[in-house]
Amino acid sequence: MTSPLLDIRGISKSFGAIRASEDVSLTLMRGEIHALIGPNGAGKSTLIKQIAGNLKPDSGSIWFDGRDVTSLDTVARAQAGLGRTFQISSLAMEMSVLQNAVLGALGKRGRVMRFWRDVMRDAALLQVAHAALSEVGLAAAVGTRVADLSHGQRRQLEVAVALTQSPKAFLMDEPMAGLGGEGTARLTPFLDGLRHRAPILLVEHDMDAVFALADRISVLVYGRIIATGKPDAIRQNAEVREAYLGD
Ligand code: ADP
Ligand code: MG
Repeated sequence: MTSPLLDIRGISKSFGAIRASEDVSLTLMRGEIHALIGPNGAGKSTLIKQIAGNLKPDSGSIWFDGRDVTSLDTVARAQAGLGRTFQISSLAMEMSVLQNAVLGALGKRGRVMRFWRDVMRDAALLQVAHAALSEVGLAAAVGTRVADLSHGQRRQLEVAVALTQSPKAFLMDEPMAGLGGEGTARLTPFLDGLRHRAPILLVEHDMDAVFALADRISVLVYGRIIATGKPDAIRQNAEVREAYLGD
């Protein structure tokens, strides 16, 4: 067995009386898509935020690429290779596709540049941005304002922004949300191929997409993981059916 790239060890997080994460342990292996499913309010986004560094667990630890990253901030974790897309879009709507990708590349560099015009003339940043945009199929849309993109294209751009930071792993919080059938059908094979670039911890409500993509599935209910396993085992798990999938 190779060691996991991401190793969540028994993390807990409460908001007052709400136990949003209760002794959660899970791993992400190289090359895999590990889906995290569960009802609304189960604690999926809270878990992603703790892995990305936006929230600090009350206890437990998070190991990434052989290192304890529990006390690192979001920037240090991104630099360590944790790429993230958000449930709510974090794109700059009035800026172009290219400008958003360049901002992503700039974030990875972690160096302050004074003037926007210097940023948009930086050959190295532009190269990274263009490469990420062609990888997600947005090369023809570089000049388009984000506000004028379709929902699906925005999701692709979010992945491109994450790609500019050359992540070793992706954390994705509901990338299919709001896409509709056609958008989901287009994003699914894209994510499928992306796993070979970097493994994905995928929070997703669209069960067709989850069962099509996931190598393993973990089910979170009231902050606890009630089952982890291969899709077939999860589909047949009685406790999971009762708590989430429904009969
Ligand atoms: P999910 O993403 O699975 O829908 P969340 O992680 O968003 O669930 O929320 C888990 C629980 O924690 C919910 O009961 C939610 O209301 C609560 N919660 C999340 N964030 C906060 C916060 N910043 N302050 C207080 N309660 C929160
Ligand atoms: Mg959520």
